[in-house]
Amino acid sequence: MVRALSGKEIVTTEDELLAAIRKVLSAEDPGVIVPIGDDAAVVDPGGHHTVLTVDTLVDGVHFDRSVAGAHDIGFKAVTVNVSDVAAMGGSPRYGLVALALPPDVELAWVMELYGGMRQAADQYALSLVGGDTVRSDRVVVSVTVMGRVAEGRAARRSGARPGDALVVTGALGGAAGGLRIIRSDPAQGARMAGTDWGRELLSAQLRPMARVGEAETLVQAGTSAMMDISDGLALDLWRMCTASGVGARVVLDQVPVDPALGPLADAEGIDPLELALHGGEDYELLAALPPEAVEDAAAKIKERFGTTLASIGAVTERGFMAVGSDGRERPLEPRGWDHFA
Ligand SMILES: [Mg+2]
Repeated sequence: MVRALSGKEIVTTEDELLAAIRKVLSAEDPGVIVPIGDDAAVVDPGGHHTVLTVDTLVDGVHFDRSVAGAHDIGFKAVTVNVSDVAAMGGSPRYGLVALALPPDVELAWVMELYGGMRQAADQYALSLVGGDTVRSDRVVVSVTVMGRVAEGRAARRSGARPGDALVVTGALGGAAGGLRIIRSDPAQGARMAGTDWGRELLSAQLRPMARVGEAETLVQAGTSAMMDISDGLALDLWRMCTASGVGARVVLDQVPVDPALGPLADAEGIDPLELALHGGEDYELLAALPPEAVEDAAAKIKERFGTTLASIGAVTERGFMAVGSDGRERPLEPRGWDHFA
């Protein structure tokens, strides 16, 4: 039963919770043979390869329930998984949600969480077909997404070749800027959150976008390696280079720094380029492409999705270097967002 306590509904049994969740998630999808509500879901992915990914968000580690709304947390929990499927060149199809809840969480909070997940699922055309709920001392949201990719078209991070151009979608550093606002002292944070640039940075942190169509376009353009930037450009590029057995040379002036970081730099004394290189959670795409394919891919991505594609440097034989505005090369530190730090 869901019992009323001081006017609030508190979740007490799993069946009640599941019934409420089912109402939020129910949807028709021709690929779903047995939907949520049975022992397991049955889906028909069609004649493709299957892409599988899981991501877990923990209260106090990946989000802060006292700052982020339940809707945003749910939206982001689905989006980050969609981003990983997209980074393989796949399209998301089905999702599973495992949720751990402390006893004091209100039913309204849980419904808002699922509302956010449902919104992201609808946005990326995936069906949430099942999951699990357990008791815990803190909120943990774990989302598994299954997607599909045409046979032989999965974009791995291990295929970058010396001479390839390195490209990045959108702008970087915004999510780290938003986190900076969330973690600043409350009065200053509220001031910044009231500005246009503050809202943009908070939105980058709380409501990231997954670049599904952009990734498909990059695969069509002949990308040799691709990944999403979840832990910062420098660290993720280093991972791509390590997987591919190559080096990289990044031209710092060409790194697309989120313009909303300019005013944050004035207010907080941060270095926008530092956040763009080493901040996390932007969920933009990093790809290696034959140089002759870049211009056409950028034009298509701009035309189809309104997203910019920046050429930030090149894949090299070895070394991990950054070129400053003075033209000098120096080592680029493979440092980023570490979830275990
Ligand atoms: Mg990834």
